[in-house]
Amino acid sequence: MAQKEAIIFDLFETLITEFVDGSRKVSRASRDYGNLIGLSNSEFQQQWNERQEMRMNRGFPTYRAVMMDILEKNDLPYVEHVIEALYQERIHEKKVPFMNINTDVIDLLKQLKREPVKLGVISNCTEEEVQGWAECPLADNFDEVIFSYQVGCAKPDAAIYELACSRLGVNPKHCMFVGDGGSNELAGARSAGMDAYQAAWYVPDFISSKISGFPRLTKPNELYEQFLDKQ
Ligand SMILES: [Mg+2]
Repeated sequence: MAQKEAIIFDLFETLITEFVDGSRKVSRASRDYGNLIGLSNSEFQQQWNERQEMRMNRGFPTYRAVMMDILEKNDLPYVEHVIEALYQERIHEKKVPFMNINTDVIDLLKQLKREPVKLGVISNCTEEEVQGWAECPLADNFDEVIFSYQVGCAKPDAAIYELACSRLGVNPKHCMFVGDGGSNELAGARSAGMDAYQAAWYVPDFISSKISGFPRLTKPNELYEQFLDKQ
């Protein structure tokens, strides 16, 4: 069994969580998009989701660019102060999970920091989603942090895993990847040559049970045990 020289973490629902009591309360403040921009909440959500990939890989470089595209395609006016207010609200909401880090995750990172292993993060995210990162207690623990919006590619694209390995100076074969499985990231990590593990400690069972074929970890500490097994 190959010894592991690096562990790469997903961010959302792996290191931090937006779920509260089984639903995604933190980031879903109720607002009336119909009133604000002229699209019903469900229409807006659909249009937002359709642009998921391009929001992550810098196809849309900013929140404003996504909103401009949605409004333009729907023949709706772009009202600067409305979009600016939505942007600021989104920054504020997205900062919340960075302020409440699970102590089991902190303990895991402390344990790993005592081992001869490099730690990395690969996150599919946009600029306004990770403004809480730099100030949060997780940030100092990692040797490399890759945010998809900064590098212009996103999981499960092989390029983003390769970039992480090259920055960490490790062969993917000597890498463990752990994530809740969003964006098909576990299959992507495996295709890139890594051992992939499913982080099932944050997401509710009805979501995590949709993913199979990867060792399922129900507590952060189980990752440490898996790491020790490989040494
Ligand atoms: Mg995730």
